[in-house]
Amino acid sequence: MIGGGAAGFFCAVNAARMNPDLKVTILEKSSKLLSKVKVSGGGRCNVTHACFEIEEMMKKYPRGQHFVKKAFHQFFTKDIITWFEERNVMLKKEEDGRMFPITDSSDTIIECLIKEANKYRIEILINREVKEIKKINSDWQIRTLNAELLTANYLCIASGGYPKSSMFDWLKNIGHSIEEPVPSLFTFNLPNNSITKLMGVSVANARVKIVGSKLSEQGPVLITHWGLSGPAVLRLSAWGARELSVRSYEFGVVISWLPEYAEQALREKFSDLRSENASQKISGKNYFGLPQRLWEYLIQQSGITENMRWADLPGKLQNVLIQNLIAQQFEVKGKTTFKEEFVTAGGIKLSEIDPNTMQSKIVPDLFFAGEVMDVDGITGGFNFQHAWTSGFVAAKSIVSRNEATHTTIATRS
Ligand SMILES: Cc1cc2nc3c(=O)[nH]c(=O)nc-3n(C[C@H](O)[C@H](O)[C@H](O)COP(=O)(O)OP(=O)(O)OC[C@H]3O[C@@H](n4cnc5c(N)ncnc54)[C@H](O)[C@@H]3O)c2cc1C
Repeated sequence: MIGGGAAGFFCAVNAARMNPDLKVTILEKSSKLLSKVKVSGGGRCNVTHACFEIEEMMKKYPRGQHFVKKAFHQFFTKDIITWFEERNVMLKKEEDGRMFPITDSSDTIIECLIKEANKYRIEILINREVKEIKKINSDWQIRTLNAELLTANYLCIASGGYPKSSMFDWLKNIGHSIEEPVPSLFTFNLPNNSITKLMGVSVANARVKIVGSKLSEQGPVLITHWGLSGPAVLRLSAWGARELSVRSYEFGVVISWLPEYAEQALREKFSDLRSENASQKISGKNYFGLPQRLWEYLIQQSGITENMRWADLPGKLQNVLIQNLIAQQFEVKGKTTFKEEFVTAGGIKLSEIDPNTMQSKIVPDLFFAGEVMDVDGITGGFNFQHAWTSGFVAAKSIVSRNEATHTTIATRS
């Protein structure tokens, strides 16, 4: 197993459990195991998402939808919930569907996986960066950075996402090709934009569209001190990962703070407000359920003075306010990593991997699991679910290959 992250551990512990005769070794480049699990979900580990329909779940993967669909038939959300439950790790569902351990601590997940690895006597070697893998006759030869040589009958690559294409060279050298890596799950920077003064304000349901593209998402938007964040923005960053990278993260967005209103309906609402609240200050109360600070900001941006009353609102300024409410434009310049969760889009080309076994179609006895493949999900537990699923499927295939050939999964030379 190359990589001591979620996918590598899950593949290792399941392979060893399914066939205790296998000798399983995890090679981890750093000195830390499961380091992303540790920091994931703000230290709580968003293990999966409470979605129990494969057709629904697959829609959450901007890259790899059809690939994960096949794999989910073998190991899905309910299976990971049960898997942890059987090891006394209970998961709970939050309102938005994200699932966390009831302890609200990623340590619970780490401890469970390490305990399982110890139970099946998995050998774990840290500070072993794999630099080269070679198939010599029927064996794999693995060379690490410190020139150590190991051999194995089967290899599972679970080395995670790499930000640079050159980091995949050791995998390209055995004949695999990659989709260029680009970041996904980031927030949008609005440098020097006055809206950032509203940092901390969130709108439960806004629509954000990217100018000059079909990309559009509706949902919660959070204003931060550097720009825009929140689920709708993160989803846009995932679906637009490639397109926005090509545009060097400089693009326009149009926000409707009231997506439930078409322009005509909003005009009618304004006309009612003018007659019903003629003597009231426009800035005093907003009738749309928007955060008051945002309402006051939009009024100010529309050139409406603080004391102006509804009866005195000139038609021209009303038009500006309506436009700001349903089509406010911003110029995005740059992105910021979303600290709770970020992933790399791109990785090993999916056309070169069998989704039913996670086995390479290019070289036999080579398997993949997790983010190293060109699969990534939106935020909400989908990336870990892919790590668990692909790790499990790879384990099952290795075990069945091994039963057919009576060899071991990994042996040190
Ligand atoms: C801050 C943060 C928070 C996140 N939170 C969530 C969340 O709550 N829910 C969710 O679903 N997803 C979350 N994600 C995404 C999720 O962590 C990843 O999708 C997931 O960890 C991928 O698992 P993996 O095992 O494929 O890769 P990784 O977890 O990246 O593990 C790969 C391992 O391989 C090792 N490695 C790399 N190259 C080599 C080599 N050549 N030789 C040996 N070892 C090597 C690496 O050091 C690493 O330990 C988060 C990501 C980040 C960065």
